[in-house]
Amino acid sequence: MAAAREAPGEDSIRVVCRFRPINDAEKSDGEIVVKFPPGTDDQCVNLDGQVYTFDKVFKPDVSQKGVYDEVAKSIVKDVLMGYNGTIFSYGQTSSGKTHTMEGVMGDPHLQGIIPRIVNDIFTHINALKENVEFHIKVSHFEVYKDTIRDLLDVSKVNLSVHEDKNCIPYVKNVTERFVTSPEEVFEVIGEGKANRHIAVTNMHGHSYGSHTIFLVNVKQENLENQKKLSGKLYLVDLAGTERVQKRRGSEAKFISKSLSALGDVVSALASNQSHIPYRNSKLTRILQESLGGNARTTILICCSPAYFNKSETKTTLDFGQRAK
Ligand code: ADP
Ligand code: MG
Repeated sequence: MAAAREAPGEDSIRVVCRFRPINDAEKSDGEIVVKFPPGTDDQCVNLDGQVYTFDKVFKPDVSQKGVYDEVAKSIVKDVLMGYNGTIFSYGQTSSGKTHTMEGVMGDPHLQGIIPRIVNDIFTHINALKENVEFHIKVSHFEVYKDTIRDLLDVSKVNLSVHEDKNCIPYVKNVTERFVTSPEEVFEVIGEGKANRHIAVTNMHGHSYGSHTIFLVNVKQENLENQKKLSGKLYLVDLAGTERVQKRRGSEAKFISKSLSALGDVVSALASNQSHIPYRNSKLTRILQESLGGNARTTILICCSPAYFNKSETKTTLDFGQRAK
């Protein structure tokens, strides 16, 4: 793992793995295919005798809050201290990626990581407010076939990645909304969902094939000493990773290209290589500033426990292991 870091506490890349509960349709298909070895501090999962070790393994019965506390809580603190971060969910379609990232927005028990992060950010800010001015803005966009579409302005269907004067890539002209409460953020997310839905209806279910990105930027200025801090958090719900044969031609090609580019970046970071191949896909270019360096990255490996999905689950666990 990465060497000493400026950010307090943990490693720069954390890999956690979540198994969702088996559903009724899958039950008839047979047993859960994995075992969670006891006495391993919830860090191991055994698939067919092969043991995978992660920073944390969440069994199917772990609650949304349980996942949030372990995965995202400390990242919120880091972002408020001016660090960048990325959390992305990786796994086949129906493995629980969206449930983990978004969940049921308005339900205090079932809400996922994103709404909890948003609530936590505002709770921290409201507790801190004296002498510090905060500006929070959010963007919401998706990457489909290496094309960036704004989810807050449907007329922006092909945004490009530019570099600022410090050579840091950013999505040019992406809509930015200033927000002052969790409710405003939830409205923005709802708007993005509706726009994604329109696109899905028009393009035959392409949501499975797109990477959905929600960006939260927290800027603050201390009014006493004028000290400024800015932290960006990318929350990414990746396209389903199921094997390409199951997909239509060109979409499959783009998905596998961007996911393998992401895998290459993450494993280069995990093994401390000097060259990190960010430039190989739009997805990795966009995330460059928030993957590696001083940024905090968490990879959430999502898995189905069903027998039917065994080979996809193995591929997903292998991806996670590569990032360790
Ligand atoms: P993905 O985004 O990976 O395609 P979803 O998050 O949509 O998968 O999950 C597929 C289904 O399984 C959804 O109906 C979701 O509500 C359910 N599900 C996923 N994870 C869990 C969980 N941890 N607990 C209960 N239901 C879950
Ligand atoms: Mg999903």
